Amino acid sequence: MITTLPQPTKRKPDTAIYERLESAVRSYARSMPRQFARAEGVWMHDNQGGRYLDFLSGCSTLNYGHNHPVLKSALMDYIAGNGITHGLDLHTDAKADFLAALEQVILKPRGLDYRAMFTGPTGTNAVEAAIKLARKVTGRELVIAFTNGFHGMTLGALACTGNAAKRSGAGIPLSHVAHEPFEGYHGPQIDTAELLERRLADPSSGLDAPAAILVETVQGEGGLNAASPEWLREIAAIAKRHGALMIVDDIQAGCGRAGSFFSFEGMGFTPDIVTMAKSLSGMGLPFALALFRPELDQWSPGEHNGTFRGNNHAFVTAAAALRHFWSDGQFQQDIARRSRMLERRLDAMASEHGLSTRGRGMIRGIDIGSGKIAQAVTAACFAQGLIIETSGAHDEIVKVLAPLVIDDAVLSAGLDILEESIRAALPLAYGVAAE
Ligand SMILES: *Cc1c(COP(=O)(O)O)cnc(C)c1O
Repeated sequence: MITTLPQPTKRKPDTAIYERLESAVRSYARSMPRQFARAEGVWMHDNQGGRYLDFLSGCSTLNYGHNHPVLKSALMDYIAGNGITHGLDLHTDAKADFLAALEQVILKPRGLDYRAMFTGPTGTNAVEAAIKLARKVTGRELVIAFTNGFHGMTLGALACTGNAAKRSGAGIPLSHVAHEPFEGYHGPQIDTAELLERRLADPSSGLDAPAAILVETVQGEGGLNAASPEWLREIAAIAKRHGALMIVDDIQAGCGRAGSFFSFEGMGFTPDIVTMAKSLSGMGLPFALALFRPELDQWSPGEHNGTFRGNNHAFVTAAAALRHFWSDGQFQQDIARRSRMLERRLDAMASEHGLSTRGRGMIRGIDIGSGKIAQAVTAACFAQGLIIETSGAHDEIVKVLAPLVIDDAVLSAGLDILEESIRAALPLAYGVAAE
């Protein structure tokens, strides 16, 4: 039983070096003031012997847990054999092997005909490449993004991001993007896809013909709003009708997080472009991709590039992850079982306190109603050794991003800590005005 429980350190370590040298821009380190030394599976260990259960998973970058033995040994063998580390965009054994795995394990079985573009290794770079390509192919400027969407921090992707605090960092106007209401934004009665269609069909609405419609199927940072298959199918149809490309940003919801490898599988539409990053390498190595229909591949050589498009270590671990987890249906069944447990437990917590839940698959959370109280909940969790964060416009959603490989018993033990922390934080919060 003891093996399912975290053992946090009570004492804060010395943080003087960070305060002296590291930029004030650091954020997660502030709410989790420990110094982490190593990690395996779902556990992170600090340098004082404390052990923490990771329900953040690098914001869904560690879907297969920390240092998965299969991925780690593939990488160690590769390094031991003096495999290429950095290769610009040169052909390498590691790249060929990754592309073969992508084709055989992911694309072919799903009937997807996509070209793979190796962008710079961050998610935001895949988004930049996607919207650049959409603008180039359509000859149009406007991108339609959605309220509460998050797409990254570089200027093009940031313009597509909704959050005002993030946008204000740009220091210049963020333009050529219209933020239309996501599903449910105006309440359950109003079909926001129909609103978008009406505006695009109306030559006097003031909305320009878009190059692309950029959407997350589950809004990872913006509050875990999960779009319905019906709404997404309608958005895909609208894009097609109006000559725009549909881009699904699957950087957080993809790689199994929402239940299947791509978050849109089985929904009856195929995006024109898909962006992937975060858990793509499987081991937390930087690696991003834009996937698109072959007809859209109108780049000239080097038109979008980046020094680190050839992160061969990431190719090795990504290929190993695709083969190990996605060659048969077992992993997806495990995710489905854990998702049901997560759903059941979060629903029970919500109904106990008159709250509501968000999300689907293993990207779910509970709406605490106030950022301050949600922060009290995550702080109470951390004090008991559970690493967990918030999401949403006011950081009011406590978000569970447990590694997808988590043992059912450990998942349950982590959710016990969340349940107790909500029970402890909510009464204390009575009398605290909700922001
Ligand atoms: C994290 C994220 C990004 C940005 O990825 P970075 O690697 O941080 O640049 C873009 N879109 C979504 C949906 C994300 O969750």
